[in-house]
Amino acid sequence: MLLQGSTGRGVKRPLRVAVVGGGPGGASAADTLAKNGIETYLFERKLDNCKPCGGAIPLCMVGEFDLPPEIIDRKVTKMKMISPSNREVDVGRTLSETEYIGMCRREVLDNYLRNRAKENGAQIINGLFMRLEQDSADGPFTMHYNKYEAGAKAGTPTTLEVDLVIGGDGANSRVAREIDAGDYDYAIAFQERIRIPDEKMNYYKDLAEMYVGDDVSPDFYGWVFPKYDHVAVGTGTVVNKTAIKQYQQATRDRSKAKTEGGKIIRVEAHPIPEHPRPKRVQGRVALIGDAAGYVTKCSGEGIYFAAKSGRMCAEAIAERSQQGKYMVGEKDLRLYLAKWDKQYWATYKVLDILQKVFYRSNPAREAFVEMCKSDYVQKMTFDSYLYKTVVPGNPLDDIKLALQTVGSLLRGNALRSSAAKSVTFGARVAPEAPTKRAEVAAAGSA
Ligand SMILES: Cc1cc2nc3c(=O)[nH]c(=O)nc-3n(C[C@H](O)[C@H](O)[C@H](O)COP(=O)(O)OP(=O)(O)OC[C@H]3O[C@@H](n4cnc5c(N)ncnc54)[C@H](O)[C@@H]3O)c2cc1C
Repeated sequence: MLLQGSTGRGVKRPLRVAVVGGGPGGASAADTLAKNGIETYLFERKLDNCKPCGGAIPLCMVGEFDLPPEIIDRKVTKMKMISPSNREVDVGRTLSETEYIGMCRREVLDNYLRNRAKENGAQIINGLFMRLEQDSADGPFTMHYNKYEAGAKAGTPTTLEVDLVIGGDGANSRVAREIDAGDYDYAIAFQERIRIPDEKMNYYKDLAEMYVGDDVSPDFYGWVFPKYDHVAVGTGTVVNKTAIKQYQQATRDRSKAKTEGGKIIRVEAHPIPEHPRPKRVQGRVALIGDAAGYVTKCSGEGIYFAAKSGRMCAEAIAERSQQGKYMVGEKDLRLYLAKWDKQYWATYKVLDILQKVFYRSNPAREAFVEMCKSDYVQKMTFDSYLYKTVVPGNPLDDIKLALQTVGSLLRGNALRSSAAKSVTFGARVAPEAPTKRAEVAAAGSA
């Protein structure tokens, strides 16, 4: 038990940490904290939650988070990039025999990660976190939540005292609101899960499709991802959220020949953060995953980054508290932010630039798809995605690639048309429409 620290920071009992949200971010944070012997409470409002998500994860997540084979429904080794004029480019031939993109069902992945945290000592609380209270800056937090008991119709208002709080409660984070973390731009993503006939499913057994074009999204892409026994067809947008259903229809139309005869088994929509919140740490509260705003532009990827940020935040707490013996403060939590920004700033920046260059007009998208024919581009893209590093290229190949890019853009008329429009990406971002919740509700169920 606990020890009065010689620095005066010591606490007389073990450090108590609450993690709000049992998605990949929260579950990974709780797992790491518990493994380090810290008293850990993981709050999840819905233990069978099925987060609206494409479920694609990079290969490095399987290894780094020690995921067993049954978590991966499908191993995607082929990707079809489909241009606005429906030109198809097959991507994936540079992959080795052991490389793939993992496709999982979130209800399965999240459940697995939460149970593992529990086995390692985290206490799982089925409850909806409502608000935080703190009498003095040095004092503990009182977590107010509605506890859900099996069979009960409504939650019971309950409290719990803790020393630290990690907000892993996703894009609509209440923890972020409690610390006035500020808002971020966000995309609305819409997805339909469709059970298609076996022969059609066979086509998608190890194949995913990405559609680009003004019709499917003015600033993102439409996708068909294979899941366990169905496909997920979806799209997203930041700049014209009210037209999301129209973009979804276009994605369905463009993939129609391959999904026709299918039965829709689920319709879902959810916000995707566009960039980190202005504030990610305050006092003894830290945000991770979507609550912090860690989704990459261009690909809309956030599962790995949620799990990784949860783990990195928990590691900083374990290190600075010496496995729960000492109290930690804002300075200690900032260690997590410093490490995170150092490791991933470049990845976010590169994807941000790629989105601005290639998703801005149909000619630019045609050029983008044309470029994907190059083995060098395929290798760089897959290596960066699968292993989560901005891969240093070969200088000669980089020069060739730069010339090829300009050539593709000129052929596609993208440079001329975008100069004529002289519209910056930033200026095209529509003013904030009503609220996230209202838009998601209008788009579909969340
Ligand atoms: C349609 C769509 C498709 C996507 N496709 C992909 C993809 O293919 N690959 C990829 O990497 N990313 C994808 N993303 C992004 C990805 O889903 C998120 O980045 C990821 O889920 C973030 O994980 P998280 O743990 O931070 O938050 P979440 O997964 O949102 O988890 C938050 C958890 O907190 C719980 N919670 C919320 N509020 C409370 C509360 N007050 N009290 C208690 N519990 C609470 C929720 O029930 C939930 O379980 C997609 C997103 C969308 C919307």
